[in-house]
Amino acid sequence: MEIPDLAALHALSPAQQPTYPDRAAVDATVDRLRTLRPLVLGHECDDLTDKLAAVSRGEAFLLQGGDCAETFAGVTADNTRNKLRVLLQMAVVLTYAASVPVVKLGRLAGQYAKPRSSDLETRLVDGEKVTLPAYRGDAVNGFDFTRDARVPDPARLLEVHRTSAATLSMIRAFIAGGYADLRKVHTWNTDFVSDSVAGQRYDALAFEIDRAMAFMQAIGADPDEFHHVDFHTSHEALLLEYEHAMTRHDSGSGAAYDLSAHFVWIGERTRQLDGAHVELLSRIRNPIGVKLGPTTSADDAIALASRLNPDNIPGRLTFITRFGAGRIRDGLPEVVEKVTAAGLQVAWVCDPMHGNTFEASSGYKTRRFEDVIEEVQGFFDVHHQVGTWPGGVHVELTGDDVTECVGGGEDLLEADLGDRYESVCDPRLNRVQSLELAFLVAEMLRA
Ligand code: PEP
Ligand code: MN
Repeated sequence: MEIPDLAALHALSPAQQPTYPDRAAVDATVDRLRTLRPLVLGHECDDLTDKLAAVSRGEAFLLQGGDCAETFAGVTADNTRNKLRVLLQMAVVLTYAASVPVVKLGRLAGQYAKPRSSDLETRLVDGEKVTLPAYRGDAVNGFDFTRDARVPDPARLLEVHRTSAATLSMIRAFIAGGYADLRKVHTWNTDFVSDSVAGQRYDALAFEIDRAMAFMQAIGADPDEFHHVDFHTSHEALLLEYEHAMTRHDSGSGAAYDLSAHFVWIGERTRQLDGAHVELLSRIRNPIGVKLGPTTSADDAIALASRLNPDNIPGRLTFITRFGAGRIRDGLPEVVEKVTAAGLQVAWVCDPMHGNTFEASSGYKTRRFEDVIEEVQGFFDVHHQVGTWPGGVHVELTGDDVTECVGGGEDLLEADLGDRYESVCDPRLNRVQSLELAFLVAEMLRA
């Protein structure tokens, strides 16, 4: 399929793009990006489409997770391993406790650009109000609250490519080196997590898995699946310069793929039907997602599906709903009913994070673990009621012991948020909260 050129996309007045001070520098960066190697391959994207088709048929469950915003400084082996580890632990809990195949999709190796509710940010500095451009992710500008840091710099797009490649190659190395081997199911549960109730529950489950595997091996069965895991990457396709430059034609089929990740999604703020993001993603062959917030009507969803998946290919389109715990039970049923009645093939996934953010009295952006669970429960209830498959969860999480979301088994309080609040954007579930979520979702899947 033909890819529109960048100028044609810009003519559609795309939302949420940086205002670069020097257009020539942007063009030079895009030219350079076009020469850099793809991060993933077309057939890997097709493989994920097949897996998501199983999700849309109700035969598999999607676990998509990672930081709200990755940072260049955060690309260390430890950080990447910790995120992979918590996702593997969650996937094991879901697979074993609910007997459902789990499709594992990292929100990583490219999640560097953020849409913002305001172009500007005002803070008190030495008693004076200072207003600067908002931080739009490391792909665009710096997090430091200084005038210099906040100027959008196109050279950062090259760093996105470099750090994404580094993250992906670490992930591929961990997996090739046997880190994801199911015989490691115990060793994933090290450090602080084994002291928590969720960690102990996980240990008990890991013992059961060991016994089941020992039994399988005793009878001579040692399937490949014990030793290998399929893991794919995803991020929000927000910056047109970057996503366009990474879109390439497959040498075999000739189809265009955005080879910056296996799966890319369109955010709630950029899903205008006649907008540039929908236009670009309608032309690529990757599996794609769209976030649907609480104001989405059934007609909006149907129109998006016909633009983005006109051939109704199963696995191609995932709707990631993020209504908020208080609105999902009222708002979601009609959308799901009408999309289903229209015969549209989609995977339904719940993002229980973005509709449940609030500001704590201490000023930190946070979410209540209980609201997150309540939204996932609402999502399951709605799909059960309509007769559709609650196909997965999309969560902001980290493998580290951060203090960003309140509540959960360890009952993190608003007063604790300052202890280890490390996110540069939205609050993430920490490792224990992520495991707790996995156990609760496994129960919902079994119900
Ligand atoms: C996000 O996923 O970080 C995000 C900004 O989500 P949404 O587009 O749903 O607001
Ligand atoms: Mn976010």
